[in-house]
Amino acid sequence: MGLIIDGKSIAMKYRNEIKAFATELADNGKRTPCIATILVGNDGGSVYYVNNQVKLCNNLGIVPKNYFLDENIDEENLIKVIEEINNDSSIDGVILQLPLPKHLNEKNITSKISYKKDVDGLTDINLGKFYKGEESFVPCTPRSVLELIKSTGVNIQGSNAVVIGRSNIVGKPAAQLLLNENATVTICHSKTKDLKNVCRNADILVAAIGRPGFVTKEFVKEGAVVIDVGTTMVDGKIKGDVMFDEVIQIASHVTPVPGGVGSMTTTMLIKNTCEAYKKNVY
Ligand code: NAP
Repeated sequence: MGLIIDGKSIAMKYRNEIKAFATELADNGKRTPCIATILVGNDGGSVYYVNNQVKLCNNLGIVPKNYFLDENIDEENLIKVIEEINNDSSIDGVILQLPLPKHLNEKNITSKISYKKDVDGLTDINLGKFYKGEESFVPCTPRSVLELIKSTGVNIQGSNAVVIGRSNIVGKPAAQLLLNENATVTICHSKTKDLKNVCRNADILVAAIGRPGFVTKEFVKEGAVVIDVGTTMVDGKIKGDVMFDEVIQIASHVTPVPGGVGSMTTTMLIKNTCEAYKKNVY
């Protein structure tokens, strides 16, 4: 029987560091870091997510600033809001909640975010720097994936890592982070042949698919570390991509959903905002 990787307790370590940083600034009469969140439309899940983020910011002494915009906003006006944030020296980080409504060009709009405030690493500048191995903001979900893997103490160097999913926000950057740690990385997707066998070779298996319960015990090598990024609403409950109950019988460590990757990502965004603050203020 494997161990549960507790995302909440790992996030707590970072939250304590953030709180200590913000408290010290406030005690010295300095401005504390500020994170702006742009939400277009009022999708229930996204509003819930933003409200939780606000609560967390308030607990940690970080200033949240929300831009709840009408779902019919046009591109020009949305870009105006982004430019206003870019030019506001009291804001350190910006999060644009994705996906945007279909009438908006996500690629064009994302490109307007200042790379200095792009704490979720969405802009071409940050992505380019990241893939070239230069200092940059790294997308927070894959960054959380790596932190959770490291928390197990597994030797990443030389291990076989398999990532299922090749999206720009999760699969590809997760694979790149593992490659940076000297794992031998295989990226799988919907056209991969013999997926189960490829996965069964993995010492580290990352599932970022968006298909609840897709990864069964047949995908998992004995003693593997399994990270479940998937979050799909099923009958009002969040479900991961991994059949947790059966996979934990075989794996050495597994992340739960909820309580795994998702618990870390908001904290990582706030941590990146503190890093942006340090770069822009000091
Ligand atoms: P996405 O853009 O839809 O990508 C899904 C990937 O899974 C694609 O590369 C797709 O392959 C692959 N895939 C789909 N069906 C497959 C199959 N049968 N076999 C193998 N591969 C298959 O999704 P995403 O944005 O990367 O997100 C993935 C999951 O993570 C979602 O559940 C999302 O909600 C969740 N998520 C969680 C967090 C968090 O903080 N916990 C953050 C972001 C996302 P193709 O490329 O060939 O289509």
